[in-house]
Amino acid sequence: MDLFEYQARDVFEKHGVPVLRGIVATTPDEAEAAARELGTDVVVVKAQVKTGGRGKAGGVKVARSPEEARAHAEAILGMDIKGHTVHRVMIAEGADIAEEYYFSVLLDRANRSYLAMASKEGGMEIEQLAVERPEALARVAVDPLVGIDAAKAAEIVAAAHFDDDVADQVAEVVQRLWDVYTGEDATLVEVNPLVKTGSGAIVALDGKVSLDANADFRHPDHAELEDTSAADPLEAKAKENDLNYVKLDGEVGVIGNGAGLVMSTLDVVDLAGKNHGGVSPANFLDIGGGASAEVMAAGLDVILGDPQVRSVFVNVFGGITACDAVANGIVAALDILGDAATKPLVVRLDGNNVEVGRRILLEAAHPLVTLADTMDGGADKAAELAAAAGPAA
Ligand code: GDP
Ligand code: MN
Repeated sequence: MDLFEYQARDVFEKHGVPVLRGIVATTPDEAEAAARELGTDVVVVKAQVKTGGRGKAGGVKVARSPEEARAHAEAILGMDIKGHTVHRVMIAEGADIAEEYYFSVLLDRANRSYLAMASKEGGMEIEQLAVERPEALARVAVDPLVGIDAAKAAEIVAAAHFDDDVADQVAEVVQRLWDVYTGEDATLVEVNPLVKTGSGAIVALDGKVSLDANADFRHPDHAELEDTSAADPLEAKAKENDLNYVKLDGEVGVIGNGAGLVMSTLDVVDLAGKNHGGVSPANFLDIGGGASAEVMAAGLDVILGDPQVRSVFVNVFGGITACDAVANGIVAALDILGDAATKPLVVRLDGNNVEVGRRILLEAAHPLVTLADTMDGGADKAAELAAAAGPAA
């Protein structure tokens, strides 16, 4: 989960990273009141969207009075920045910027390690700096077992050639940012810019934090950081039922057990779709190992709730949960859904107890269900049914 800047700011503050005060506003009125409450000569009105380059897009504006903050908020709220609509702004204390730096720490999967990056030349887009002047961006590996202690922080600061007058302060902030990284179980903590102010203080002016969802159980407080307003309602419903669901653009709903099987099913459906007017998968949905009737019903419910879906391909390999249990699950799920089930279902079962499973489905003889013998055959039939159902709603 990526955090909004204002949430990253709060998390930074919690771990002792120096930040400026900020107040979230959703209307120009609130923005003006927030600027008044901050009471500083200068405030900055900042679009809160989960994408970079807000400054360039006109989503970061300096204001010298509460009235001006209001006017900027009016212009920024509702703005589209790279496909993200601005619903909130943060009114932040203005900083007197002397220098802009860059710092990040992230998971380095390829090296099974962490990587810290730092530069004296922050502010601009770091991707551009990395390409044009790679020598200006220091990269320092961080041993997961040691982390960023005082020695590692000093190494990072030296590698990036920070000036002597700020080196110690930056090293201190870098250690606090490491506390954010490990303390919150993040996969990315990025500060751009980290600034030196006119009075020589080091302050994190913009923060980007990605949290590792696998560690959610350790952080009950992270649940409230989630932006439920932006979530796709079907994805939210799937999540409630612990289903791994990703909405895609096509017309054929896909359900399978196991991520590998579901992914290859997507490929096969996509290929089959080329012979049927170019239909393609509508989603990824992995119902996992224990495909009980309830889980199958929840899965079907999510997929049938997608108006773009014209047909559904259920592709299950019976393992610990055998095919007869899956077949009973499908029959019970259709029963639970009743009239809510309206789209044709192609079912392909293989693996443990496949014969019993197929017999259960044949005997149930549900009018919406077609049995397929093979994965290719099932994909072809599902694509054909989707194409026959006409263009998506
Ligand atoms: P981003 O463009 O989405 O990365 O948004 P940032 O929060 O990094 O802001 C972009 C730029 O706006 C920064 O690099 C600064 O140059 C400028 N900026 C942000 N906050 C302040 C501030 O408090 N005072 C001044 N003078 N400039 C600011
Ligand atoms: Mn930035």
